[in-house]
Amino acid sequence: MHDDQLTSTRDMLLQLSHELGKPEHRLAILGEGNTSARVDAETFLVKASGSELRSLRSEQLVQVRFDRILALLEQNLNDAATNEALLAARVEAAAAKPSVETSFHAWLLQQEGVNFVGHTHAIEVNKILCSDKAELFASRRLFPDEIVCCGPRSLLIEYVDPGTLLAIAIRDGWQRFFQENGFAPRLILLRNHGMIAVGASAGAVLATTFMAMKAAEIFNGACANGEVVFMPEHEVQRIYSRQDEHYRQKMLKLV
Ligand SMILES: [Zn+2]
Repeated sequence: MHDDQLTSTRDMLLQLSHELGKPEHRLAILGEGNTSARVDAETFLVKASGSELRSLRSEQLVQVRFDRILALLEQNLNDAATNEALLAARVEAAAAKPSVETSFHAWLLQQEGVNFVGHTHAIEVNKILCSDKAELFASRRLFPDEIVCCGPRSLLIEYVDPGTLLAIAIRDGWQRFFQENGFAPRLILLRNHGMIAVGASAGAVLATTFMAMKAAEIFNGACANGEVVFMPEHEVQRIYSRQDEHYRQKMLKLV
């Protein structure tokens, strides 16, 4: 039973990784980006360090323990000690080294309704995250389907060093966001870095990623055309709370 769970999660995560890595999507090149999925209460699968999303192989998804990785967030280890801890977290000692960004995956996969995580360096989104308009893109919405797939607003994280520091910034930012808004983010924007989509299924992560890309393209086009006109906030809230939108989210496997 346990092995079945591991095999099916691995297959779904491989499929998600290959889709995110397709060159035509312009989400990641070379070793950019990483993915993960929860296997059970104790472990999850995460992309190996240095591997490519588009060509990811089964053995490049490493099964690691939550408790070992989450302990990193409570310690202040140097790079060498962090690398050792990443290796020690593997379920199988012969497995590849987990991604340096494994720690934020561990924390996100502990949140309610999050079973899959997809992190990419989307060109169209990074055009905004490398500009002074990042806050605007995170806090406002342009069209209804952006609200359905990406939530009424996104969590924006200031630039920090990828690794444990980024995981801590995401944890603190997520908790603040939840207190302020009363709902959890679906899309996390990392300034000067990229984005993270979280979801209950691999399909939800894809839907959020692709819709974020589309929203970014529209945002950039609207900026080029003059002043961006956002949806009024009460309309955003209305879409978010509407029953038929919940139904659409269910159909899209977003909830
Ligand atoms: Zn990254």
